[in-house]
Amino acid sequence: MVMNKPDKGLKATKDTWFRRISGLFQRRQLDPALWDELEELLIGADVGVDTTVRLLEAVRSRVKADGMTDPGQVRGALQEEMVRVLEVPRTTRAETPGPRVVLVVGVNGTGKTTSIAKLACLLKREGKSVLLAAGDTFRAAAIDQLQVWGKRLGVEVIAHQPGGDPAAVVFDAILAARSRGLSAVIVDTAGRLHTKVNLMEELKKVRRVIDKADSTLALDVLLVLDATTGQNALAQARHFAEAVEVTGVLLAKVDGTAKGGMVLAIADKLGLPIRFLGTGEGVDDLVVFRAKEFVDSLFAAD
Ligand code: GDP
Repeated sequence: MVMNKPDKGLKATKDTWFRRISGLFQRRQLDPALWDELEELLIGADVGVDTTVRLLEAVRSRVKADGMTDPGQVRGALQEEMVRVLEVPRTTRAETPGPRVVLVVGVNGTGKTTSIAKLACLLKREGKSVLLAAGDTFRAAAIDQLQVWGKRLGVEVIAHQPGGDPAAVVFDAILAARSRGLSAVIVDTAGRLHTKVNLMEELKKVRRVIDKADSTLALDVLLVLDATTGQNALAQARHFAEAVEVTGVLLAKVDGTAKGGMVLAIADKLGLPIRFLGTGEGVDDLVVFRAKEFVDSLFAAD
């Protein structure tokens, strides 16, 4: 199977920032001004101030300890430290005999529905059988949108009436997937309710019902964040993480921003592994995130 590479989605981030970062290391000697310029460029790429400072401290202490004088070597150390920040261990359970449940959470408009379709498509390509659960019962349009994707992808959608109990939808979907021996259930959830408190309570309830349906299931709680919202996405992430134990992030719309450095802030400040990148509006525009491949793409000269 051909795996998508992050290159396409990272074009703006590379053109705007990382080409200049690479340029800094093409100088013949380590120039003291390099560190200030590097800091400025990393912050510009939305790596975030704290993460940038920590990253550069780690690189500088390696430069000192190893007595590095060659800018190329320093670049290598920077890349390695970036990979280290991005390699957040995953905490989710390994595959179990029952269906894997992927609970997808996030604010409306971040790209949640499109991302669910992309995930379903990826799993299908891997030969897995998938079921979608229309857990955003707050918006009738959300149920319709998921059903449209289901038809297009040839994937069954379990849905109730608008205004129904999302926990009941999820419960039904898990039972249906289990009785049919399917490999995965992807659950859409509301991104907005009358109040934020209601939304978080609803997510908690859905989470509890998954355990009630079968507490041995492998569960991913995937938070969809919109890369174009920059550091605001971090505040959103904290909210969701308080309500449900988020196990990973899908960063959508990476192609629409020069701020791809955000992945470092997410990994560093939230301690969450980035699992996927959304790199376009098409159903195939999804990249399975791999730290080293991502960093290599950022620095690749093309
Ligand atoms: P939801 O409200 O969170 O379910 O968001 P949607 O899935 O409806 O997506 C909102 C808009 O973002 C749509 O126009 C999508 O086509 C677009 N979108 C979603 N993911 C991506 C992505 O990775 N890249 C780009 N460029 N657009 C995206």
